[in-house]
Amino acid sequence: MGHLCACFYTYAAKLAALTKERRMTERKKVVLVDFDGTLNSYKSGFDGKRPQHLPDSPNPGAIGWLRRVYATSVYEPVIFTTRVLNQATGEDDPFVVEAIRDWLINYGLEKMVVHNLRITAKKVPCSLLVDDRAFRYEGKFPDPAEMTKLTSRG
Ligand SMILES: [Mg+2]
Repeated sequence: MGHLCACFYTYAAKLAALTKERRMTERKKVVLVDFDGTLNSYKSGFDGKRPQHLPDSPNPGAIGWLRRVYATSVYEPVIFTTRVLNQATGEDDPFVVEAIRDWLINYGLEKMVVHNLRITAKKVPCSLLVDDRAFRYEGKFPDPAEMTKLTSRG
């Protein structure tokens, strides 16, 4: 009986350790969405010295799409972008992450949504990728000419 109790308390402690939000998101399918060229219109390109500098507006429908996906009970949108990667540490740069959050709020995404949105340069387990530079593999790999076409945009 004592052993059972110990097991129960270990289990209860583990459950309690998971925050409410974490339990919520664990049930959702992650949709990784690229930032530059996908959510961000990216007309000005990338200034490596100032990754927090975001002079361009979103692509049409980007904010509404994020809002809609976030509101579903099935999917969790996660912004997946190397823009937030700190080259020196290999970690996400919170300063750049905040700049993207400010940008999203500035273009009308609700603060509560923005606050809960994960933004990372790390490839987290996901169900779907939305990216302006992806090749959809359907049994055939891209040939170099197709790769040139895909990599020369944005
Ligand atoms: Mg892109």
